[in-house]
Amino acid sequence: MKDIIILGSTGSIGCQALNIIEENNEKFNVLGLSCRNSISQLEKQMEKHRPKFVCVEKEADAFMLKNKYRDVEIYHGEDGLIEIAKADCDLLLNALMGISGLVPTYHAIKNGTDIALANKETMVTGGKLITDLALEKNVKILPVDSEHSAIFQCLMGNEHKSIKRLIITASGGPFRNKSLEDLKNVTLQQALNHPNWSMGQKITIDSATMMNKGLEVIEARWLFDISGDRIETVIHPESIVHSMVEFDDTSVMAQLGLPDMRIPIGLAFNYPNRLNYNGKSLDFLKEGRLLHFEKPREDVFKCLKLAYAALEEGNGATVILNGANEILVNEFLNGRIGFLDIQNNLERVMNMGIKGKSETLYDIMELDKEVRAKTKELIV
Ligand code: MG
Repeated sequence: MKDIIILGSTGSIGCQALNIIEENNEKFNVLGLSCRNSISQLEKQMEKHRPKFVCVEKEADAFMLKNKYRDVEIYHGEDGLIEIAKADCDLLLNALMGISGLVPTYHAIKNGTDIALANKETMVTGGKLITDLALEKNVKILPVDSEHSAIFQCLMGNEHKSIKRLIITASGGPFRNKSLEDLKNVTLQQALNHPNWSMGQKITIDSATMMNKGLEVIEARWLFDISGDRIETVIHPESIVHSMVEFDDTSVMAQLGLPDMRIPIGLAFNYPNRLNYNGKSLDFLKEGRLLHFEKPREDVFKCLKLAYAALEEGNGATVILNGANEILVNEFLNGRIGFLDIQNNLERVMNMGIKGKSETLYDIMELDKEVRAKTKELIV
């Protein structure tokens, strides 16, 4: 029996993870759950899965839950999240949104807990810190991003030294064929309407701007210890090939399947074994009949190019990229800026000459704070 803690249990990944646990309750047990403020949904999860501890964002919510669930340890806020991340368990699924995922991941690894990582911002902001610590503590980081799980699967049984390049596929999002002119007037609703995947709001907007792919390139750099110039991005609108690895002999391995996050989650939970799953099989004569690949249009979608540049620049540049992007996406979601303002302002922030280190957790969080403030100033 594997004891699992889920951070971000009421989000899209968290809910699918709990379905997997429910269907495989002889294998997995829920030890802890966390969410921000979807309290009624959390309560349903608590009643079904009986966790030992829970963390929510607000003290008032924690107080209410403490009175109602006397046998559950209830925590709140960032410190509470660290407390439950530090608890002894077999696996921690980090499905938090944004840089808020970094600190709890750090503490879980420090405690020797294996990580199922759905929070790419952990690697974007703390890639070196986290991978060094994982190596030192002999902790596994199992990817729960479909592209990284695909690469991870392509590498199972293959040698790292034989990798020539990684090829990350991108659906291209809802605006794949739009011109810069078209993009001036797209609405929030259109941006939230992803053609292939149903996900949380932040990642859906990141997919529409292609920033999601940029963040994934940076995540891949750290997860697989491959320099950015050996990570390519290719648009694949069908989202059937989830990513590929080319080896030194030019042989390419790909992982295919219908878009379904339960596959990466299930593999991370049951690694090194696969989990039985009664999902729909890929029909090669239907979904697999026409698979297309295109070059990303970096002249229209600037975020991808900015991400590669930040990765190459190193030091704090990817922290700056991430912090500015989180603020800008939030401003767009709240209707305060337009769609193209995300990438245009991101470019301005990246050209501001902000410098900062990203060696320690403290460095990263300080730099993140500075960038957020400067990004906000830019858009008032
Ligand atoms: Mg992905």
